[in-house]
Amino acid sequence: MRIVIASSEAVPFAKTGGLADVVGGLGKALARRGHDVTLVLPYYRQLMAEEIPRRPTGRFVEIPMRGQRVRAGVVESQLPGSQVRVLLIDHPHYFDRPGLYVEDGSDYPDNCERFCAFSRFVMEAAKMFRLQPDVIHCNDWQTGLIPALQQIEYRSRPGFEQTAAVLTIHNMAFQGSFWGLDMELTGLDESYFNWRQMEHYGRLNLLKSGIVFSDALTTVSPTYAREIQTAEFGCGLEGVLQHRAEALTGILNGIDVDLWNPDTDPAIPMPYSRETVSVGKAFCKKRLQERFNLPQQPKIPLCGMISRMSEQKGFDLIEEIAGELMQQDVQLAFLGTGEKEYEAFVRELAARCPDKVAATIGFDESLAHQIEAASDIYLMPSRFEPCGLNQMYSQAYGTVPAVHAVGGLADSVIDCTPESLADRVATGFQFQTYDAAAFLTRLRDALDAYRDDAVWDVLVENGMSCDWSWDRSAEEYEQVYAQARASLNPSC
Ligand code: ADP
Repeated sequence: MRIVIASSEAVPFAKTGGLADVVGGLGKALARRGHDVTLVLPYYRQLMAEEIPRRPTGRFVEIPMRGQRVRAGVVESQLPGSQVRVLLIDHPHYFDRPGLYVEDGSDYPDNCERFCAFSRFVMEAAKMFRLQPDVIHCNDWQTGLIPALQQIEYRSRPGFEQTAAVLTIHNMAFQGSFWGLDMELTGLDESYFNWRQMEHYGRLNLLKSGIVFSDALTTVSPTYAREIQTAEFGCGLEGVLQHRAEALTGILNGIDVDLWNPDTDPAIPMPYSRETVSVGKAFCKKRLQERFNLPQQPKIPLCGMISRMSEQKGFDLIEEIAGELMQQDVQLAFLGTGEKEYEAFVRELAARCPDKVAATIGFDESLAHQIEAASDIYLMPSRFEPCGLNQMYSQAYGTVPAVHAVGGLADSVIDCTPESLADRVATGFQFQTYDAAAFLTRLRDALDAYRDDAVWDVLVENGMSCDWSWDRSAEEYEQVYAQARASLNPSC
């Protein structure tokens, strides 16, 4: 199949979160499976500084924007280690900025214009480079306009007649909701600004537009696919999703096993495999304790957490149980950035308990790998979690996750019970109700299990034996692409 993936981020070009890992990993897996894959991304300032080889194509794409013609260059590159061609949309005014979406804690005020323009540039690039896609795979609100453009404007054009638009929702909490007057930026007729299509309670909603106009929809885990059709997790769009339930499939993300493999990971001080995990992890733990000035005691359980610091990720629960946790024999290593309140909380906790807590505020890919390798337990008490990646990285690194049983966490961690232990399938600890007491109880169970080598070895071994590679998920995406093409959305 000829597949165009449109995304606002992809590893290793630009990343603020899991979306980037997913797009990079899936693109590579699809290409390995013989598909012709082109990834279209904005050419951000961060990327300009990267070492990845690229070359200007000398071609320009042009779109209408508020009655003017706007032009962007197209730079060509390749997803490292793959056959995936990458087209970078070079529009310095939109993309040569310090942040991707946010600067100094505030969204760019022209985000709607930037990503409506990007969506149109993607379509024009597909036309200019004669990609004739079988599928345009869009991701999140930033490319949510594309399915509407495909249905309304491009389907009748040569090269797009048989193109299916597929949208993957990575997180319902981010919808690209803008005031109604921004409808002008889409370049589509005002008549589409109605509650059945692009409007949501008086506002332009780009994620909703994508949901309504795509031929198929996916989200990043089967449980999240069910959850987002409820008021609790649908963030106001549950009705729209219920309406499209038949087109919606949950596909658990894979992980990039080239990047997240403790046996070949260049970022960790001692590589290790399933056979050598006890020695390797002990060494990585010692090094991390050294780096953070934590007491170098091999038997104290080290709990890691690498995350956006937000309420979604359960930092309110961490805050609530911190006092209790500090009474226990544990060490905590935090890495993250996000809401000021939570950054201040982990900083203060580390200052107050320097022999138990280390906090790094910032984004540090290589430290993330080191924490995964060094930790015994990984904390992921997310309030909601579409898929989550770190619980899978953790299992691959022999680090036992303690998670809230929602979304992808419910689908990718097998709770430790006497039965699941006996069956040798248990990989972690789940708590069901989102509250501090439930989390603390399960964390205590994990700490108790850590002290029992026979139990712990089974948990580590089971986790490290799981297959998280993208091939499994890529196969499911192929099926969705085929279904989308078979049922090109006739309703719009
Ligand atoms: P989300 O996309 O909701 O932020 P995910 O668990 O799906 O959460 O993916 C987050 C990704 O970003 C993981 O690869 C995680 O390791 C990485 N990450 C998050 N914060 C940091 C950080 N401060 N430094 C390095 N990597 C980080």
